[in-house]
Amino acid sequence: MDTKNTHEIDIVLATSSKINSVDFDNLSFGSTFTDHMLVCDFKEGKWGKPVIKPYEPFMIDPSAKVFHYGQAIFEGMKAYKDEQDQVWIFRPDQNLDRFNKSAVRMAMPEVPESIFIDGLKTILDIERAWVKKGLGNTLYIRPFMIAIGSGVIAQPSTQYRFMIILSPAKSYYSGDVKVIIAEHYSRAANGGIGAAKAAGNYSAQFYPQKLAQEKGFQQIIWTDDATHTKLEEAGTMNVFFKINDTLYTAPTSERILDGVTRKSLIDLAKREGIKVEERSVLVDEIVTAAKDGSLKEIFGAGTAAVVSPIVGFQYKEDYYELPKLQNSIAMDLKDKLTKIQYNLAEDTFGWTV
Ligand code: PMP
Repeated sequence: MDTKNTHEIDIVLATSSKINSVDFDNLSFGSTFTDHMLVCDFKEGKWGKPVIKPYEPFMIDPSAKVFHYGQAIFEGMKAYKDEQDQVWIFRPDQNLDRFNKSAVRMAMPEVPESIFIDGLKTILDIERAWVKKGLGNTLYIRPFMIAIGSGVIAQPSTQYRFMIILSPAKSYYSGDVKVIIAEHYSRAANGGIGAAKAAGNYSAQFYPQKLAQEKGFQQIIWTDDATHTKLEEAGTMNVFFKINDTLYTAPTSERILDGVTRKSLIDLAKREGIKVEERSVLVDEIVTAAKDGSLKEIFGAGTAAVVSPIVGFQYKEDYYELPKLQNSIAMDLKDKLTKIQYNLAEDTFGWTV
């Protein structure tokens, strides 16, 4: 192993790379990882020195709090390579900000920019070869933090591990997405942890998601927990509705994740002169709009798929199909956003780094 010492990050390089054994044309999302990972531990009230080292399993105590009380948060971002071989990341400040909001909500320590952003840039520089050129090729970035302090007592840990792992990904095509509107289960509640990217938010969705899949739906549109009348998110994405010429999406709240794709699409749409309203959309409204033909599009928005058009939705006993469009706003906005991400269009917003 070649050991380098930079000012702030220790780097231990892998002696060989597994990159030649990876079939980049047939990647299954989130299952292949690069040669290195970043690790940084928090103990005695402070963060230690980050280390980038070969990707490998590690040991923690079976009583570590992450296993018993689910103190765990994460982020999801992507790196893109342009035609000049430059590697870009998209609005990383937003992910850092959201990560630290999640940390506060889960009684975990905030991670400083010098570890999160500088660490990310350093590991990406090492793993440049894993970011492939061409629209649709990305390196998915997964920063996360877990409670590693031991003891089966329900109180916050005093020790944490922050890590960054990287996974090459092809553009994500989900096929036709039919959704079912939630009538009983909820993703989040006021006063809860819906606005945090906390691990438990995702495991809590697995069971309702499984029931929906058994009925033939790929995703659930989550409604508010109190009345189940407001449309909030689509699976693990923010959700947009186009009724007549206006785009609607729910305002962010304690129940809704402040998506980076969501806010970027809102800015892009406004720049295009499209009317956008951030307000709660009611189930009744889209049922009426679907019946009278004014409902034009529904799409999910998130880092993994960028935009995921929805072909129809089930509510109670009825299924409503959306019109098949040649020129959808969803695909137009997706195209504009991905061109900025890949440095193929001028980034007038100053989003790319
Ligand atoms: N909502 C939820 C619940 C999510 O997990 C995600 C994915 N992070 C999003 C929305 C979309 O957020 P982003 O655009 O930042 O990926």
